[in-house]
Amino acid sequence: MARDIAGGPLLGMNRLAQKIAGLIRSAGPISVADYMAACLLDPENGYYTTHDPFGTNGDFVTAPEISQMFGELIAVWLVQGWQAIGSPASVTIAEIGPGRGTLMKDMVRTIGRLAPQLADSADFALVEASPRLSATQKETLGGDNGSFGWHAKLDTLKDQPLLVVGNEIFDALPFRQFVKRDGKWLERAVGLDADGALQFGIGTASLAADALPTDAKHALEGSIFEIAPAREAMMSTISERIANQGGCGIFFDYGHLEPGLGDTFQAVRAHRPEVVLDNPGEADLTSHVDFSALAAVARGHGLKADTTSQGEFLLGMGLLERAGQLGQSGDVAAREKISADVERLAGPDQMGTLFKVLAIRPSGIVVPPFGGAS
Ligand code: SAH
Repeated sequence: MARDIAGGPLLGMNRLAQKIAGLIRSAGPISVADYMAACLLDPENGYYTTHDPFGTNGDFVTAPEISQMFGELIAVWLVQGWQAIGSPASVTIAEIGPGRGTLMKDMVRTIGRLAPQLADSADFALVEASPRLSATQKETLGGDNGSFGWHAKLDTLKDQPLLVVGNEIFDALPFRQFVKRDGKWLERAVGLDADGALQFGIGTASLAADALPTDAKHALEGSIFEIAPAREAMMSTISERIANQGGCGIFFDYGHLEPGLGDTFQAVRAHRPEVVLDNPGEADLTSHVDFSALAAVARGHGLKADTTSQGEFLLGMGLLERAGQLGQSGDVAAREKISADVERLAGPDQMGTLFKVLAIRPSGIVVPPFGGAS
């Protein structure tokens, strides 16, 4: 890549890349977390602020966009959670990072059928950082947004019991990477190469040994370990609310149930992987979610936290029965689509194993299929 004659921004760098490069020139390399935050939510050129990422014409497909069954079964779980906490009349049903609003739409319809009293009395809340996607959600949920409220953050939710859901929200929150170098774990940073293009480097911040998994000691030079204080902070806010005001929560994402080493930073555009430093703001950036770290935060607030795979959860909630019911009213093509959807959502080669579930609840409350002593 060549610098232009005046020594200004690089040719071929998009506007956000130029903005980030300018920041690095004036203040030094930035963390992976700051790079990710700028790429996803920069007010002018961020990915979620300027794109509609979802569906076959977008960049990636999420579970609620595959089938209505996903939202229906989560709604069943929330209704059970509401009953388990004593069916309070005042309650918030919130979704964090609602994308197009499809999951919320499927949940509201199902809750209306299963527990009309809950549907009538609940405050439905959409917690969304992107004004553009908030507008899409308003369209999806119909002209009358009377019972729906939009929130840029969790802080403005009412002080009352909270039933909360998030699908693919935690992977979208910034995370940090540390690289093993001469026996130390130093923070990975985004800086500039000799031509002024974005490149990875190593910063000076290091990670203490007690923050590392047990296999870190014997890891090869160059190994990477990821932590995500922003994800843990969000889980802490949610857990604190549920611990103080009652409720329960359920979260779906790709990730691992045990902490581990490895570089899981990825960029996806038009259903294909991209290089993470190319074209900032034009591709979705994520990393795998460490479910054990999030579960530990919830337990730290005195809650019970259970983890499982998406496949186990959906089958446990009656995915096959619901698919059978839906299939009865359709023709052969509709039935084939439903069984393909079941496979995509719960099949071990598809989302069933890669995607994990974290459910949190106050101790003493059982919300099937969770109820053990974890
Ligand atoms: N749940 C949806 C969308 C997942 S994509 C689905 O399954 O289809 C991530 C969503 O989280 C987007 O709506 C994005 O704008 C939103 N988001 C990203 N960072 C956020 C934050 N800090 N707070 C709230 N929402 C956020």
